[in-house]
Amino acid sequence: MTDRGARTACRFCGAGLSLSLIDLGDQPLANSYLPDDPAAVAAEQRFPLHARVCQSCWLVQLDHDAPAESIFAHDYAYLSSY
Ligand SMILES: [Zn+2]
Repeated sequence: MTDRGARTACRFCGAGLSLSLIDLGDQPLANSYLPDDPAAVAAEQRFPLHARVCQSCWLVQLDHDAPAESIFAHDYAYLSSY
C-alpha cells in the first residue's frame, strides 16, 4: 500500500500492480442520495477510483478499497448481489 492506501500488489496473484487502465480521480460512493443542498454535495466523502491491470494474470482491479465503515455507516442504498 502507498501513502493514500493504494494497492501495489495484485489481489489475486500478488504480482506488482503498476499498469493503469483508467484513473477517474476521487469519486463519491455510488447511490448515496444526498439532499438538494450544495453544502451536502461538497461535504460528501470521496475515494480514489483507479482501475489497474495485473500484467501477470490480467485481472482488472481497483487499487483502493473504500473502508466498510464509510459505506455502511449510514443508509447506503446499493448492495451488490451476493
Ligand atoms: Zn495478478
